Amino acid sequence: MLMKRAILIILDGLGDRPCKEFFGETPLEAASTPFMNYLAREGLCGMMSPLSLGWTPESGPAHFEILGYHPYYNFYPGRGPLEALGTGEKIKEGDVVFRVNFATISKGVIIDRRAGRIKDVRCFEKDLRMEMDGIEFILKAGTEHRAALILRGENLSSQLTDSDPRKPNRKPKKVRSLSPEAKRTAKVLNKYIERVHKILENHRANRERKRKHLLPANFILLRGAGTYKKVEEFERRYGLKACCIAGTGLYKGVGRFLGMKILKVRGATGGKNTDLHAKFKTASKATKRFDFVFLHIKGTDLYGHDGDAVGKMNFIQNIDNAMRILSKTKALMVITGDHSTPCSIKDHSGDDVPILFYGTGDMRRDDTLAFGEKYCETFGALERIEGKDVIPEILNLTNRGKIIE
Ligand code: ZN
Ligand code: ZN
Repeated sequence: MLMKRAILIILDGLGDRPCKEFFGETPLEAASTPFMNYLAREGLCGMMSPLSLGWTPESGPAHFEILGYHPYYNFYPGRGPLEALGTGEKIKEGDVVFRVNFATISKGVIIDRRAGRIKDVRCFEKDLRMEMDGIEFILKAGTEHRAALILRGENLSSQLTDSDPRKPNRKPKKVRSLSPEAKRTAKVLNKYIERVHKILENHRANRERKRKHLLPANFILLRGAGTYKKVEEFERRYGLKACCIAGTGLYKGVGRFLGMKILKVRGATGGKNTDLHAKFKTASKATKRFDFVFLHIKGTDLYGHDGDAVGKMNFIQNIDNAMRILSKTKALMVITGDHSTPCSIKDHSGDDVPILFYGTGDMRRDDTLAFGEKYCETFGALERIEGKDVIPEILNLTNRGKIIE
């Protein structure tokens, strides 16, 4: 029996609600997507609730469910460790990790949460690495104003609140402990944040920015604390040698956390300007070397958050165009989103997401004629599945399903 390979394509925030711009159609329904429509026509479709019906997830938990780590809260380490892994940094069991924004503060008030969208914060890494009261602080730059902060030492706890108030024109919050064990970590951390502020105020890179009339990156805002712990790797858990193709740190972090090989793609930015052709080309080659290719595209979610339905539709059309390079692959193709990001609410929602499975060979097919919410809802033979069902169905359709005795 032939064991097939699989490619799972996650279009972040793909699902949507009826848009007035398209007279009640969603961006996916309104988009011209001849390739995905072909796959839907020749494949098996349905709707997928990433967690459970009506529940609204962040991308992280949704990916854990879809990638077969259910229930996600048994495995999910929090956003901080995933972002840190996404930067390529090594982290150790027991490390407490935050995601960090470099920000601009003036007279104690945040005036820009992204420090004027500073392009690169690597210049601060060395000066912000230090030891305080037995805790080692390692700050690792991510893309633009983003970074990760790693705390290493004995008896640390990640039961900590965020310092990021998430809105400008406010004072940064103090990190607070949520349990007695976290008291010491919170205390030292607040001291570190103050120390960092002093260093950044006088940092040569910031003096240079001020001279150029740019906002100085003189403060760090922390959120998403988590403790790093190892989990069973994807290959061991499912017997699939896996790789990950993503532009955004978080998704590379998810791939690394689960032990997938991270494939580098030039031009993959995780933004609206990402090189879709380069990503699909890498994916197409990867299906020859790996049993399982996880390909992530972020742009759909970004347009949803902006409430830009036309932009989302156009981006989906570009995806469809770039995806054609996969037309000759023999791998099972699975296309879905990690949640809905309706343009009308500019945020994630609990609406389920269309999903399609397409494979050559003896796979069952249904009467879905196009890829879109209403088609998959009405004609999809899979009806409504959950995130946790995706990997078992992939194993089944690639003839790798385990027999339950
Ligand atoms: Zn998402
Ligand atoms: Zn989002």
